[in-house]
Amino acid sequence: MRAGERGDQAGPGTRLVGLAGLAGLARRPFFLIFLVLAAIEVLQFLNERSVADVAALAVLVLLGIAAVAERGQLAVLEGARRAEAETFAQILRRLSNSVSPDAIVTAIVDELCAVSGSDHVGVVRRQPDAQSLEATVSSARTGVPRSRTFLSLAELDDPGRRDPLLGETAPDQRIAERIAARLRSDYGLHNTVAAPLRIGGHVEGAIVLARRTDDPWDGRTVRLLEGAATEASSALTRAYTLRDAEVRAAIDALTGLPNRRSLDDYLVLLAKRRRADDHLGILMIDIDKFKDLNDAFGHAIGDHVLREVAQAIAGAVRDGDLPARFGGEEFAVVLRNPGEVAAGEVAERVRRRVAELDFRSVGVGTVTVSVGVAVAAPAEVDPAQVVERADHALLAAKRAGRNRVAVG
Ligand code: GH3
Ligand code: MG
Ligand code: MG
Repeated sequence: MRAGERGDQAGPGTRLVGLAGLAGLARRPFFLIFLVLAAIEVLQFLNERSVADVAALAVLVLLGIAAVAERGQLAVLEGARRAEAETFAQILRRLSNSVSPDAIVTAIVDELCAVSGSDHVGVVRRQPDAQSLEATVSSARTGVPRSRTFLSLAELDDPGRRDPLLGETAPDQRIAERIAARLRSDYGLHNTVAAPLRIGGHVEGAIVLARRTDDPWDGRTVRLLEGAATEASSALTRAYTLRDAEVRAAIDALTGLPNRRSLDDYLVLLAKRRRADDHLGILMIDIDKFKDLNDAFGHAIGDHVLREVAQAIAGAVRDGDLPARFGGEEFAVVLRNPGEVAAGEVAERVRRRVAELDFRSVGVGTVTVSVGVAVAAPAEVDPAQVVERADHALLAAKRAGRNRVAVG
C-alpha cells in the first residue's frame, strides 16, 4: 500500500473505527473499570500532584501494558488454534473425497507429512480378512519413495496385562505404542508418537509420527495426530462398510453364488470387451419339479437342496466361467469362449453332477435339472439375445421330458 493510499483512508473513517474499537473495549467489564479508575486517578493527580498519585498512575499504566500484552498472546494462541482447526478441516475434506481405503491412507500421510513437523509418517492397518498388517512409511522429504512392508497380526493382540513400562496406558493406546516400537526397530526410526486406528470398533492399526530429534512432542502435534487418527478411522470404517455392502449386493445370500445383478453387469462388460473371434456360451439350468419337492419336504429342505445344487454347478465349470443364481430354482452359467460341442459337454456334466448328489440324509431322492445351451457366434454382439436362446432351449428340454440338455 502506498503512503497516499494510507493517507486517504485516515480521517473520519479511521476515527469512526477508533471510536468503535473503544466502544468495543468499553463493553468488556475489565476495560470499563480500568478506564474509570484511570480517569479518577488522572483527576486526582491534576488536583493534588502527590507522590502517591504518581505511583498509583504508574501502576495503572503498567497494568494497562500487561493487559494489552496478554491480549496479544491470546491472539497468537487463537491463531494457532484456528490453524489447527483448518488442518483438521483440510484432512476431513481430503478424506471425504477419498472413496478407496488406499486413497484415505495416502491422504492422511500427505497431510501429516506437510503439517506435523515429523520427518516420517507411518500408517499401519489390517486389510479386512487379511492375515497380516500392512505398514506404509513415508518420508516428509520430497522425492523419497513410500515404503511398504507387512507385520504380523500378533502386533494387534492385547494380552490385557498391565505393561510395566507403559503403566496405566489404555489398551488401545498400548497397541499403538507397540506398533510404533515395531516401526522404530524395523525402519530405524527414533522419536515416535502414535495413535490407534479403530475400524468397526476394534484397533486395526495405528498412525505413527517419527522424528530424529529428542524434543518432546508438543500438545498441538499430539492433538493433530489424534484428530487425524479419529477421522481416518471413521473414513476407513465407512469405506470398508461400503465395500461389504457392495459385495453383499452382488452375492446371493442363500447359495453364495453371484446374483442376477452381477450376471447382468458381467454380460454388459463382456459385450464391450468381446474380441471379434470370441465365442460366448450360456447355460440356463432349472431344477425339475422343485415345487413338488418344496411341498413334500418343506422350504428348509428345499433351501438345502438349492445350496447343494449351486455347489454342484459351480464345481462342474471351469474357473473362468461364471455360475450365478438367476432367480428361484434357476441358475445360469456364462462360458468364456467355448466351442459348441464343449458347451454341450459342460451342460451334460452339470446335469450329471446334480443327478449324482446324495440327499438321503434329508430323506430326499434324486434331484434333477434341465439345461438349455446357447453359443453365440463371434458376430452376435448382444449377450441378452444369447440368454434368451438358452432360455428357449431350456423350455425345449423341459418339454422333452426334463433331466436333459437341449441346445438352442
Ligand atoms: P419345472 O420342472 O417345470 O421347473 O417345475 P418346478 O416345480 O421346478 O417349477 P415351478 O416354477 O412351478 O416352481 C418353482 C418352485 O421353486 C416354486 C418356489 O416355491 C420354489 N423356490 C423358488 N425360490 C426358492 C427358494 O429360495 N427356496 C425354496 N425352498 N424354494 C424356492
Ligand atoms: Mg423355474
Ligand atoms: Mg423348476
